[in-house]
Amino acid sequence: MGKISSKNREKLKREQGVDPFIGFIDEAVIKKEKAKARTLRAGQWWKRKRSAGICHYCRKSFAPADLTMDHVIPLARGGKSEKYNLVPCCKACNTKKRQLLPAEWKEYMDSLNK
Ligand SMILES: [Zn+2]
Repeated sequence: MGKISSKNREKLKREQGVDPFIGFIDEAVIKKEKAKARTLRAGQWWKRKRSAGICHYCRKSFAPADLTMDHVIPLARGGKSEKYNLVPCCKACNTKKRQLLPAEWKEYMDSLNK
C-alpha cells in the first residue's frame, strides 16, 4: 500500500472530496466492526438510546422498533462501531443516506437544519 503523507491526504480531500485512505479498508476490518455493532445493538446502551424514539438526522419521532442503527461515518469509509459513531436512524433517512453520495447527504442534512 502506498504511503500518503497527511499533508497530501488533506490536499486530496480538498480537491476530490474523498479521503484517499478509504480505498484501503479491509473486508476483515469491516467484518469485525459489523460484529461489534451487533454486540452493541443487543446491549442496554443501544436500547436506551433507541427508546427515545428520535431519528438522529431528521429529528422526528418514531416507534423505537422503527429506528435502525446507523454508522454516521459508514464502515466502508473508515467509520468504527463505537458509540460516538452509532445513532438511531429512521428508515427514510437510512434509505436516503445509502442512496446519496456523502456530499449530497451533507447537502440534505444542511437543508434540514435551515
Ligand atoms: Zn430520519
